[in-house]
Amino acid sequence: MTQSKWNNGTVLHYCFFTNGKYSVPKVQADAVRDAFAKWKAVGIGLSFQEVQKLAEAEVRIGYSTKEGASQSAVGRDVLTVPLSEPTTQYGWDLTSPYGRGTALHELGHVLGMEHEHQSPFAGITWNDVAVYRDLGGPPNNWPRSVTYQNILQKLSAQQVQGSTWDPDSIMEYEFGPGLIEKPDQYQNGLTPPGTLSASDKSWVVKWYPAMAKKLSTLQPLKLASADQQVGVNIIKRAIEEPLRWITQNAGKEGSIIVQQVKDAKEVEFGYNAATETFENLVAAGVIDPTKVVRTALQNASSIASLLLTTEALVCDIPEEKPAAGAGGPGGPGGGMGGMY
Ligand SMILES: [Zn+2]
Repeated sequence: MTQSKWNNGTVLHYCFFTNGKYSVPKVQADAVRDAFAKWKAVGIGLSFQEVQKLAEAEVRIGYSTKEGASQSAVGRDVLTVPLSEPTTQYGWDLTSPYGRGTALHELGHVLGMEHEHQSPFAGITWNDVAVYRDLGGPPNNWPRSVTYQNILQKLSAQQVQGSTWDPDSIMEYEFGPGLIEKPDQYQNGLTPPGTLSASDKSWVVKWYPAMAKKLSTLQPLKLASADQQVGVNIIKRAIEEPLRWITQNAGKEGSIIVQQVKDAKEVEFGYNAATETFENLVAAGVIDPTKVVRTALQNASSIASLLLTTEALVCDIPEEKPAAGAGGPGGPGGGMGGMY
């Protein structure tokens, strides 16, 4: 999973094919939406957002009972799939209990999870001949190479979660009798429950921990001296400055807009100067919260420490200029009033 997992906090956009051979019927699309919601409800830091254009989606979902294959690219590998093709394909009804398990399983691949039965820690000894025969026949009709890739091939330790095998995982296949030789208890077959297991949930949250909501106010600091309070006040003022300048450059009154944003109840509420609207800037895709805060604080403290260590500063004090038309003789270089 480490090789292909997403950066935490990524918003994954998904889109269903609505025409052509991969067109997804509405009831099947609803089953996939439900599976996205179940993964999100585990409390992960990734988000899923449905979009209406295939070209705007990292995850493109197709459906074809004719092809009869349910499969998905793993994690960031979806980005390597050509835009005209599904990254994630379903081949059978997703509304049955088994189908709902399939819907979750393929999205597990989208999150970067690999097959549990291919874990090097599973300790499975296969009856290779029986496996090739079973998967080579209906309903899968897999060529040998696909059977090898999906079942017999062992993954590296870096590609799997943890160091034990979880036979209840959503990433485990159902196997009929005679395919697994060892461990002994699975010789008569293996039937995983088709739901998210306890370790599926704990691993996915470990990789994608929930993003903590920012606090809307700075916590009061306990300060040892009044000098330190000055520093706090500088930071409080400094973090208003980017918004003040953005709005001023957009031709608006900075202080009024800063005050409106400070008064807002919503945590991620802000002013979008490009469209002149107040909105949730994270949802609108305008800001990446972590980077903005870090950069603002780094720059503020960098300049502050420069001033403290140099103890001197050359700056430009604005001159008071006479009002236009009030110039005339008397001033230096007289007679040039109004021209600067
Ligand atoms: Zn799979």
